[in-house]
Amino acid sequence: VLEKETFSFQTEVGQLLEIVAGSLYSNREVFLRELVSNASDACDKLRYAALTDASLAPADGFAITLAADKKTLSISDNGIGMNHADLLDTLGTIAKSGTGAFIEALKADEKDAPGLIGQFGVGFYSAFMVASKVDVLTRKAGEDEAWLWSSDGKGSFTIEPATRDAAGTTVTLHLKKDAKEFADPARIRQIITTYSEHISFPVKLGDETLNAAQALWTKAPKDITEDQYTEFYKHTSHAFDTPWHTIHNKVEGSLNHTSLLFVPSVQPFDLFDPERKSHVKLYVNRVFISETTKDLIPAYLRFLRGVVDSQDLSLNVSREMLQTDPKLAKIKSQVTKKVLSELKKKATKAPEDYATFWGHFGAVLKEGLVEDAASRDRILEVCRFASTGPEALTSLSAYVERMKEGQDAIFYIAGEDAGKLTQSPHLEGFKAKGVEVLLLSDHVDEFWLQHIHEFEGKPFKSITRGAADLDAIEADADEADKDDDGAADLSKLIAAIKAELGEAVKDVRPSKRLTDSPVCLIADEGDIDVNLERLLRRHGQ
Ligand code: ADP
Ligand code: MG
Repeated sequence: VLEKETFSFQTEVGQLLEIVAGSLYSNREVFLRELVSNASDACDKLRYAALTDASLAPADGFAITLAADKKTLSISDNGIGMNHADLLDTLGTIAKSGTGAFIEALKADEKDAPGLIGQFGVGFYSAFMVASKVDVLTRKAGEDEAWLWSSDGKGSFTIEPATRDAAGTTVTLHLKKDAKEFADPARIRQIITTYSEHISFPVKLGDETLNAAQALWTKAPKDITEDQYTEFYKHTSHAFDTPWHTIHNKVEGSLNHTSLLFVPSVQPFDLFDPERKSHVKLYVNRVFISETTKDLIPAYLRFLRGVVDSQDLSLNVSREMLQTDPKLAKIKSQVTKKVLSELKKKATKAPEDYATFWGHFGAVLKEGLVEDAASRDRILEVCRFASTGPEALTSLSAYVERMKEGQDAIFYIAGEDAGKLTQSPHLEGFKAKGVEVLLLSDHVDEFWLQHIHEFEGKPFKSITRGAADLDAIEADADEADKDDDGAADLSKLIAAIKAELGEAVKDVRPSKRLTDSPVCLIADEGDIDVNLERLLRRHGQ
């Protein structure tokens, strides 16, 4: 006989719930967006499952139904539902990537909990902002048993057998005393029109349908307001920020597809996860297919959110087969091109705004220089670098334009700490001659420099390696004429230093690259750069 079982929340969920329930999160009405968005995801999932088993689809079509009385609010869907194992996996643990990083950030900065919750999005658990108790009655499509999950959000939850007529889920919120407003039909209507207007399934309150139930990306851009785009972004991406940039693009021709993509204005918490998951949803003719496929969006554009929909992909093949469809590869390359060209526009038209984007996602985008040879030139065009030159961030072509007479290379110095780089003694000779040096402080810089050796015919040269040839470059007028007759006098000193350091160094040489510091370390031409050597050593290579 099955009976009621009690389980503890995973530690992280417990911590999360304490913060969620206790935080004075001013915008707590968003709980309804989260629950409606889960209901919509559940309908999406069942619609996909019904492609292979039509008997699973609800006879009267998909719908999300809200019901309220004085003290409770319930959100029902006829989507995929959950079985016992699903409940344990999803409503007691938190599988969302980036959770670890999120909790760490919370611990480090408790004061900003509301801000961080806002960025992270706590999904289902946001129900506990307004409810003292949450019941989830659910039955998985294709299965007979139903289950009741229940919790007051204080450390544990219960699961017991229950009955439910059809597949789907009903989440019932027992509203807190100060949250009774959310049982008021007028208030509910207002929240749904604000947050869930664009949901592709009808959202009903009693018999009244509250939304247009048209997938937003199928509308013409001129008929969509900025706010609608933003709400759609928040809904599909579980995000809480306002997108930095929106790209809504319809391609017609031999292969039709529509993409509605967003660049977030904050770094998602999972940005540097080793999995490098992409988060753009793939739809085929408005049917949701899958969430995270590298075959649709390259890993170096994984900061993108949104959807791609094409009626020209086949619905009758499995997800796995679809992912190897050459048509999908073509869509991927067209979408990639579009995104890079939009970034280029932004970089040229709004450089300051672009600098913010670059600060968040530049390091990720540069991975593409290594991984996507076909897009390399387009990526290089939108890359920006810190430098010793006049601009805070420079493009490579602007650097090349500023190159000095006689300068034959694009000089750079790589290291981990941007601040320290600017202090490096290696820069002295270059500063003295007014030669600009790029300051590269992202790990990925060392890797793309292994693959890309020149830009517009100018080779990249590390100033910590080999004999950087400054002689050919004319010094700026007032910097010229520093004495450089010390070479002969140095030979004794150098011999003494060599004797002292012995095997530890390959050579000791006089150099003109220093003007203030007495010595610096350099790697030999052809040897590995000092910083790369340090990086590789750390990775055990
Ligand atoms: P997310 O939606 O980002 O995955 P949530 O915290 O909102 O995170 O939901 C966690 C998980 O719980 C979902 O991924 C889903 O598996 C499950 N879930 C929540 N609500 C429903 C629902 N109405 N129907 C089916 N599954 C649900
Ligand atoms: Mg959710």
